[in-house]
Amino acid sequence: MKLNINDTFNKELPKDSIEENFPRQVVESCFSSAVPRTPSNPKIVHVSDEMLQAIGLTEQDKSSQEFLNVFSGKKIIQGTAPYAMCYGGHQFGHWAGQLGDGRAINLTELLVDNKRWAIQLKGSGATPYSRTADGLAVLRSSVREHLCSEAMHHLGVPTTRSLSLMLTGDQVLRDMMYDGNPDYEKGAVVCRLAPSFIRFGNFQIFASRQDEKNLKTLTDYTIRHFFPQIKEGTKEGYIKFFEDVLDRTLEMVIHWQRVGFVHGVMNTDNLSILGLTIDYGPYGWLEGYEDNWTPNTTDSQHHRYSYAKQPGIALWNLAQLGSALVPLIGEAKPLQAILDGYKGKYQPKYLSMMRSKLGLHTEKSTDDLFFEELEKILQVTETDMTIFFRNLANLKIENTASELTSYILDAFYKPEELTENILKLWNDWLAKYTDRLRSEDSIDKERKQSMDVVNPKYVLRNYMAQLAIDKADQGDYTLIDSFYHMLKLPYDDQPEYEQWFAKRPEWARHKVGCSMLSCSS
Ligand code: AMP
Ligand code: MG
Repeated sequence: MKLNINDTFNKELPKDSIEENFPRQVVESCFSSAVPRTPSNPKIVHVSDEMLQAIGLTEQDKSSQEFLNVFSGKKIIQGTAPYAMCYGGHQFGHWAGQLGDGRAINLTELLVDNKRWAIQLKGSGATPYSRTADGLAVLRSSVREHLCSEAMHHLGVPTTRSLSLMLTGDQVLRDMMYDGNPDYEKGAVVCRLAPSFIRFGNFQIFASRQDEKNLKTLTDYTIRHFFPQIKEGTKEGYIKFFEDVLDRTLEMVIHWQRVGFVHGVMNTDNLSILGLTIDYGPYGWLEGYEDNWTPNTTDSQHHRYSYAKQPGIALWNLAQLGSALVPLIGEAKPLQAILDGYKGKYQPKYLSMMRSKLGLHTEKSTDDLFFEELEKILQVTETDMTIFFRNLANLKIENTASELTSYILDAFYKPEELTENILKLWNDWLAKYTDRLRSEDSIDKERKQSMDVVNPKYVLRNYMAQLAIDKADQGDYTLIDSFYHMLKLPYDDQPEYEQWFAKRPEWARHKVGCSMLSCSS
């Protein structure tokens, strides 16, 4: 197994001088040494063939003992020095101080075809940042992370990736619903990859400690490697850096809104400086379209991280990052100006995303109201977001009003709730929609083609992930593999997977793992 090692983070940035592994505050350092815990009996559950290739490995490598050993944490790659990163963060709106990689260990960085990949094991034991926790992960949350990160990539959403999912052979104690009923679950390790795992919180921790020297060192490193078009070490460069991070974050959130993804824990330690979706915990997909929905039971009271709030929370998080960068610039004004520009940038992108979902190719000044009206009607009775947009593309302009509703009937969870009033709301909206299509000389076939590449047919619904988890728990990994393959082509009609283009079944409505998720992972 040949890996093209090219470490930068642990070579160019300051390291914690303490080598021992015990929980502590780590100052004036970007990372600490951390060695993965030896799994007692590692076994491969699933490997992403695409990521295998991306890092220059072959099918033969995949079946080697070395692959199993390296990506389960059993063996350290020669010439590398694994580490855990130091970062802080705002959790649910409050500064939480030092957090850090409490259960992620960075193995090394690779350079393959001019692309940098940092490799990280998640769930491979305690680090100096684990606080009172165990540094481990369970099969349940690891299946969710592995499948969803790959699915998101294929949906066109910027994300960290996942190479492999392995069982460690060890048992892990978890109180899944935080209700005082802990139970043993199978331990697992996911190997995830990204050009870098640096988060907003990596900058915040230095700012919070008035450590400007290391704040600058980290920012210069980040610019040098990941924002090469920017000049490091200059005031203008830092301002441009912040603007680029804002643009990338905004782009990511627009994609989330487009596909109906709800991250669930948008704390500043869970926001990537590269604008990648990171830290798949209690995330979920809108099934019934509901603005206020969050999959995270920990957030069920305040809905801070609900679907509709994601764009605003991204801005709030960017404001925290901006504050952290002020010492490098010497004033807050230029950063504030960039933050003030967020709404003005978001709105046109949001409108253009919605137009694409509806197959509209012209702009109208009333578009915002038109979309708002749709978002309201979608919530009058529970309506499946994915099925609604996907089926809307089948509509023919010359259809009569009553024919039009037939296209979207499959999207309603409770057809018995479709009163005359509700049907009228839909008829009116659909009539307006078809008028609009006619006014821009929309062609049915072309419109369907353009809509089908932005409205996915298959997403990893919460209950689907749970089915794959339940099977995997019994040692059957076939559903994980099926979903992995299906979700590689989320916009294609795949007849063999037609059963997964369906509403969430009733049994899943209130089942743990399907509609309710906690941070316990
Ligand atoms: P999260 O919000 O899940 O991304 O995690 C917040 C913080 O808690 C991060 O610093 C994680 O590394 C840490 N953390 C979460 N779960 C564990 C665990 N099982 N063991 C150690 N640290 C953890
Ligand atoms: Mg996190």
